[in-house]
Amino acid sequence: MKNIYLDNNATTQIDQHVLAAMTPYLKEFYGNASSMHHFGGQLRHRIDQSLHYYGRRAQQALEASRAQAAKLIGAQPDEIIFTSGGTESDNTAIHGVLASRPDKKHIITSRVEHPAVRAVCRLLQTRGYRLTELPVDALGQLDLKQLEEAITEDTALVTIMYANNETGVVFPVDQIARIVHAKDCLFHCDAVQAVGKLPIDLQQTEIDLLSISGHKLHGPKGIGVLYVRRGTPLTPFMVGGHQESGRRAGTENVAGIVAIGQACELAQTYMAEENSRVRRLRDKLETGLLKHCLDARVNGDTAHRLPNTTNISFEFVEGEAILLLMDSLGIAASSGSACTSGSLEPSHVLRAMGVPFTAVHGSIRFSLSRYTTEEEVDFVIREMPPIIQRLREISMFSAGKNSAPQAPYERKPQLDPIR
Ligand code: PLP
Repeated sequence: MKNIYLDNNATTQIDQHVLAAMTPYLKEFYGNASSMHHFGGQLRHRIDQSLHYYGRRAQQALEASRAQAAKLIGAQPDEIIFTSGGTESDNTAIHGVLASRPDKKHIITSRVEHPAVRAVCRLLQTRGYRLTELPVDALGQLDLKQLEEAITEDTALVTIMYANNETGVVFPVDQIARIVHAKDCLFHCDAVQAVGKLPIDLQQTEIDLLSISGHKLHGPKGIGVLYVRRGTPLTPFMVGGHQESGRRAGTENVAGIVAIGQACELAQTYMAEENSRVRRLRDKLETGLLKHCLDARVNGDTAHRLPNTTNISFEFVEGEAILLLMDSLGIAASSGSACTSGSLEPSHVLRAMGVPFTAVHGSIRFSLSRYTTEEEVDFVIREMPPIIQRLREISMFSAGKNSAPQAPYERKPQLDPIR
């Protein structure tokens, strides 16, 4: 049995070049990038004058990686802060901006954010902030007029994602940035799902802060970037040592930093070519599934979407059951239903879009990557319809709407596949 990994919005396979680039920084070049001097009784962090080779080597690698990350998004190296991942970048941006504007007590976000933003905003709400969560329409898009009207003198920050992790829907972030700036407010954008999949040039937009995560672009987990435009007020979130020019304390994850730099460079080199291939495969998969599975429909704005994502609802069947049968065939994807999402609530994104309950529960997200092949897509197009048909018959049968299932599905699922 072959393994087919279509859950790349959850995490991606590390690129072999990334692994090769980072490994020496775990094995040989393990120095602390912030080796310190002792000057006149005062501990001082000196970026360019580490006392020994190990520290200098790590420091050089760190700065090279900073330049690589900056280049991918059209930023300056000094606008890049390395963090432990997308979640920390989001937390830092939100807490950091609010702490630097203590007079303002209002935050604006959307109803479809990742928990790394949503939960932070809701926590702040319990601490006295006023929170506006902008609704989305049936396609998962925002009404920018509503955004404009929501911004007041008291608004400290607007935090809205670039691309949605569940549906792939892309928001018009350039326009959002302009609206936010016209009202003299700051804009943080969680671009964790967009970086590496869409070209981003921060010279051309007015985004103030932007979050990136290494493991979504074929880098390792536990490393991220927060872009902070020059001049943007940001109080440090992690405090302690003077790393990252005093903007993020903690001994630098040098190997992870080298890895995310390399991942950014690879993304930049191959993005255009890869994405047109991935888009074609995604479209083929989507068209094939819609054609061969009854009562299937795509969730989200297909005209403004990441090239690698399709979120399809197979109505009247349970997402978990679909995933289980898919898994028995070696196909990995994810679902917006409650159990699989690990929360009590089914997908808040699909619910915000007004997707009916039955369709939310039967929703499957397929997310492709540079490693997805045509053969894999063909396999999924062939194997999904019998899975859906079989489950529908079971659910119709248990609902007493049909006679006994006709057993058109001859493959016996292996419930405990070892791969
Ligand atoms: N934001 C979005 C849109 C995401 O999809 C994710 C991860 O799924 C995160 C933030 C969190 O990133 P990390 O896993 O690096 O903490």
